[in-house]
Amino acid sequence: MKTIGFIGLGLIGGSIARATRKIHPDYKLIAYNRSRSVIADAIAQNIIDDVCEENDPRFLECDYIFLCAPVEVNLKYMDWLKDSIPANCILTDVGSVKGPIHQKVAECQLQSNFIGGHPMAGSEKSGFTFSSDRLIENAYYILTPGEQVPINLIADFTDFIASLGAIPMVLTAEEHDFITAGVSHLPHIIASSLVNLVKTLDNEEEYMKTIAAGGFRDITRIASSSPDMWQQICLENTENISNVLDDFIRLLIQVRYTIDSRDADALYQLFASSRDYRDSIDVVDNGLLKRAYILYLDIADETGSIATIATTLAMNQISIKNIGIIHNREFEQGVLKIEFYDDASMNQSALILTKRNYKVYER
Ligand code: NAD
Repeated sequence: MKTIGFIGLGLIGGSIARATRKIHPDYKLIAYNRSRSVIADAIAQNIIDDVCEENDPRFLECDYIFLCAPVEVNLKYMDWLKDSIPANCILTDVGSVKGPIHQKVAECQLQSNFIGGHPMAGSEKSGFTFSSDRLIENAYYILTPGEQVPINLIADFTDFIASLGAIPMVLTAEEHDFITAGVSHLPHIIASSLVNLVKTLDNEEEYMKTIAAGGFRDITRIASSSPDMWQQICLENTENISNVLDDFIRLLIQVRYTIDSRDADALYQLFASSRDYRDSIDVVDNGLLKRAYILYLDIADETGSIATIATTLAMNQISIKNIGIIHNREFEQGVLKIEFYDDASMNQSALILTKRNYKVYER
């Protein structure tokens, strides 16, 4: 039996609260959210037990406090908590960048209470309305414990995150921010820049835009993400992003030289080595560089749920090219990814699965 507090009950806070309620119905959940209608919904749906006020002393009785409000609000809360938080209370957040919050942790001397958190799941939609008890299921959940958190509390909190169905991974804040700069932040910047480049180069008839299907659409899909969120991430992880951008620019200059000098061997190497490495990353997620016919859907983590879908499609003579769970779903929706051989199979499957009440996403 634990008591868990939420400050901010939006998409991420609401999803963690829902998952906790489902898996640990005996735990006591309390929450403060600026918008009272959210809290009223959460009480009506039996997601939380008690409503808190701002800086409510009841938070100090919690085993875990989740900071899930916008970053500046979370930072302000740490000033309030620093003098009164009990030694055995774990304070955690869900932010996409870990450096600034850990800096604040050091300033507030909360190193023995704070375990940074970053669930690699989410959506472009925000708010409690879109929260789901399945959002973090089978998603990586990065944990960045403060240097002085007792090992037993780290183990206890890691077990709790795993119990919700997420996949905990413990890193330092520096490792987290460097890794995400390379595999998440840089790709978003490249995708947005590529889209802006094509917008600039296109003619009045917009031939580029018209023809830009397949590969271009796949590689730039993430350019449709929330500008607010990406502005915030770039302002928070500036140094790491700037460094990986430098490396990328150097690589581009090298590629331009290879092309200008018509160096056939080097060009082959460029594409062969990227293909080999890309193929080794994730055999399921191979839609990045070529046109892919992919559906994403939400499914429960239950024995046989993938088999049921495969059987349903097979009964309709639809062949599946690839199928698998997506573990990194930050800013995306849909837990299961199904790839088909052609457009018709994908569209027919979307109809069949929607009719069977699966939540299907196409992108
Ligand atoms: P959200 O907008 O859905 O939720 C934020 C909640 O905080 C809202 O319910 C809002 O009413 C509440 N709030 C705002 N100001 C408040 C205040 N002063 N006091 C109390 N509550 C307040 O946002 P979200 O998508 O849940 O994002 C929350 C955090 O999660 C962000 O730090 C974000 O970086 C991180 N995150 C988001 C995603 C994603 O894909 N959305 C993924 C991983 C991490």
